[in-house]
Amino acid sequence: SSFQELHLSRPLLKAVSSLGFIKPTVIQSMVIPVALQGKDVCASSRTGSGKTAAFALPILERLLYRPRRVAATRVLVLTPTRELAVQAHAMMEKLAAFTDIRCYIVIGGVKNQLQETELRKKPDVVVATPGRMIDHLRNAPGIGFEALEILVLDEADRLLEMGFTEEVQELVKMCPQQRQTMLFSATMTHDVDKLAAFSLRRPVRVTA
Ligand code: AMP
Repeated sequence: SSFQELHLSRPLLKAVSSLGFIKPTVIQSMVIPVALQGKDVCASSRTGSGKTAAFALPILERLLYRPRRVAATRVLVLTPTRELAVQAHAMMEKLAAFTDIRCYIVIGGVKNQLQETELRKKPDVVVATPGRMIDHLRNAPGIGFEALEILVLDEADRLLEMGFTEEVQELVKMCPQQRQTMLFSATMTHDVDKLAAFSLRRPVRVTA
């Protein structure tokens, strides 16, 4: 299959080809059509499978074809580590390069004040590690996910292994119930299943 067949808009196809991607990876072919339908996804896949673009492309497509007049943070991507947040954010920005979609990264080690200022401007997409994101939501007025449409739990097994279970649960509860949620995990442990049951609604299960 090709990216054209996946019904992605021109600016996204342009970004994909500027990255040198010739055809979708297995996980991308499986996840993108389901995600474009707005369904929840529970995917087992490793780093290196192309999973970041598998969730980023349908997310950007949705933001493009359902524009909003008022600025709102519409997407939250949670990753277990700073490094993964940096990678996911970089991929998201590259894929959004030919759009006016704004992506922002929230990680520890960067000044709180600056992040608060940027979060109040309501970037469309926030890629974050759970600890720092919770800090902002608890302590900074005017920052919230009341308009959130899509939540991604990236590397869910590692999110739990790193001890973020409570933070992730708290963040899920802060998101509107009416939303699309995608969970990606290298391994499907009992704890990941519990998180999936807690955060997903009638997910389509994908293994790649
Ligand atoms: P990920 O699994 O998201 O960490 O991606 C692993 C690597 O695969 C990254 O360096 C991506 O740039 C690359 N990649 C993602 N999708 C494709 C594709 N369709 N064709 C070629 N490379 C890709």
